[in-house]
Amino acid sequence: MKPIADYHMHTPLCGHAKGAPKEYAQHAIKVGLQEIGFSDHAPFVHKVDPRITMAMAQLPEYYRMIEEVQSLYKSELRIKVAIEADFLPGYEDKTKKILDDYPYDYVIGSVHFIKTWGFDDPGQRKQWGAQDVNKVYRDYFDLLRQSAKSQMFDIMGHVDLVKKFGHRATEDMSEEVKKTALTFKECGVAIEINTSGLRRQCKEMYPALNFLQIYQQCGVPLTFGSDAHQPDHVGEDFEAAVALAKTAGYTEYVLFKSRKIEKTVRL
Ligand SMILES: [Zn+2]
Ligand SMILES: [Zn+2]
Repeated sequence: MKPIADYHMHTPLCGHAKGAPKEYAQHAIKVGLQEIGFSDHAPFVHKVDPRITMAMAQLPEYYRMIEEVQSLYKSELRIKVAIEADFLPGYEDKTKKILDDYPYDYVIGSVHFIKTWGFDDPGQRKQWGAQDVNKVYRDYFDLLRQSAKSQMFDIMGHVDLVKKFGHRATEDMSEEVKKTALTFKECGVAIEINTSGLRRQCKEMYPALNFLQIYQQCGVPLTFGSDAHQPDHVGEDFEAAVALAKTAGYTEYVLFKSRKIEKTVRL
């Protein structure tokens, strides 16, 4: 495999991932990655749910765990410390407080909620039945734009997560995506190709090729993430992800350090 960096992976602190950070790092080395970044789910600011995120009190343990694995593999693997935080309108100050708590290398901004509905939570999947799918897509893209404008995030995560369970918009969403891509470019946020969608009902990486092409045309920088919740998912399907990036017209991807683009790497 080409030495691509995997920037999206979790730890057991979130309550739904398995394996010690050490095992994630070992798997990364095994599959030929030169750099990874841990980006576990930040504590929720609107409720407590140990099935989904660590608690506020566990943040110091998270930093300690990742710093430990960082120094353990120093000579073989570059390890970045990051976090994946939810965008919840009205909770920006509380979210910012968490993000200012530690000198992260990057922050992934994710939309998993429309109002209070966790639309990608298997436990709340039934609620899809009562929705106008096109409206869900539009609300989702609107939240993505608001997330970028909040200036809290460096990379936007899995930017068409609404398709996770296979619900597809029947209307053309390209204009929505174009508006979103232009906002991302203007706000200076990157996106990721997230391979975990291949393991879900949608059977497709996030974002889909036609959306990825729009991000490329608008000049939005690219990263890669497996969204691993177990060690052997690190770097999974990255050959396919690189192929998708190239098909969309991308010729490079970016690495982050101290919340800035550290360098650009040719694909
Ligand atoms: Zn997760
Ligand atoms: Zn996520």
